[in-house]
Amino acid sequence: MSEATKPESERRQFKAIKGTRDILPPDSALWNWFEKTARGVMESYNFGEIRTPIFEETELFARAVGNETEVVSKEMYTFLDPPRDLDVGPFPRQTTLESMGQLSDLLPRDRVSLRPEATASVVRAYIEHGMHTRPGDRKLYYIGPMFRRERPQKGRYRQFYQIGAEVLGTSDAPAIDAELIEMLTVLLERCQIEKYTLLINSIGCSACRPTYVELLRAKLREPEIFSKLGADSQRRVETNPLRVMDSKLPEEQAIIEKLPKISEHLCADCKAHYEKLKKELALREVPFTESPRLVRGLDYYMRTTFEITSPILGAQNALCGGGRYDGLVEMLGGPKGIKGIGFALGEDRFIDAIVEAKKINATRAVDVFIAWMGERAYPTAVRLAHVLRGEKHAVELPPEEVKFRKALERADKMGARYVLIIGDDEIASKQLTVKRLANGVQERISEDAVVDYFRRG
Ligand code: AMP
Repeated sequence: MSEATKPESERRQFKAIKGTRDILPPDSALWNWFEKTARGVMESYNFGEIRTPIFEETELFARAVGNETEVVSKEMYTFLDPPRDLDVGPFPRQTTLESMGQLSDLLPRDRVSLRPEATASVVRAYIEHGMHTRPGDRKLYYIGPMFRRERPQKGRYRQFYQIGAEVLGTSDAPAIDAELIEMLTVLLERCQIEKYTLLINSIGCSACRPTYVELLRAKLREPEIFSKLGADSQRRVETNPLRVMDSKLPEEQAIIEKLPKISEHLCADCKAHYEKLKKELALREVPFTESPRLVRGLDYYMRTTFEITSPILGAQNALCGGGRYDGLVEMLGGPKGIKGIGFALGEDRFIDAIVEAKKINATRAVDVFIAWMGERAYPTAVRLAHVLRGEKHAVELPPEEVKFRKALERADKMGARYVLIIGDDEIASKQLTVKRLANGVQERISEDAVVDYFRRG
């Protein structure tokens, strides 16, 4: 039996895939408001929008983000393109990175992933389009969905939305870092999110970090420390000890507090850069908290790292994270000496924070509900709906005639500001009736004066 001929109770209904969701009106109005506000703020700092593809070669993310990161090793949605059967593992076409690795004739470009983040793509595009050949820094921003196969929970999704900005160029002046962070605080202010903390740190450079990492590794290998670490952290002692600092496991917190801090092991250049950053932030009156544990989860960061958290968000409290990645352009095959810094903010979480703060109301009610009655009124109703929409009013025109009382009820439910009443009388006299729903006041206006009337609001 085909699905269509089955009784309704037996027909299979589709649901959004776990970790993904629909954003519906009226909630979508707040998303649009937020994106418009973010664009406005970033454009006021002279950032231009970049749109990159949703999927890229897996290798790009593996190289940029790091093979050892959770994001790349466990969370990417990866597939073969063109598809082919894999005779490895229990499932045909099993497309884990591991099983694909067993295909000896696999070309790197045959393996693609949905983007788990966008910095790698932005840097790829920067190199591909030779953006470094133009003088000055490139200031780019993006808005769009990212994909990570994480365990879904409130504030954590498998398809989530990020807004991010990147500055790429030959300068690594701390003023660039400070201005980027200032821009974020302006956005928070526009969203009237007052409860947040800006955490900053410096994680050093290729000159000073390796010595610190070895020191940290040696410390973590000490049996009385190592035995108290969880399995993930124990593995990271060898693969990337810096990331142990990132651990959120409650039982590891006391140990982490006592580990050597990178801020005490920075080279002279990194120290000077970090000191200057703090001065630049103070100059801009941006309050910050230093967090020696802030190392960030992705491999490409160096020197400045920062994060903004908000206590109004609950467990998933990170609103935004970012940092400097001076070696990334070169690592992805681009020219030497190009520096970079960027951030990505979680749009889903910003929206939650805006809702929690209860200060912004972005939903837009209908301005004019046109209650038309009778065949003769209909052409006028259609014409006026078109004209008023051209004036940027939100207009609801019922597609079928509705009785007067019902029309008023519907307009009221929609939260319409005005009802424009057009019936036989109005057509005959060319005098239309406008009812303001807030106070019930009714006026007669001439058909020719309608546009002016609503322009005055
Ligand atoms: P990251 O790219 O991991 O530095 O993340 C930057 C920001 O994106 C975080 O601070 C979060 O606000 C947001 N984010 C990251 N992963 C998720 C997710 N799975 N669901 C929702 N938001 C996320």
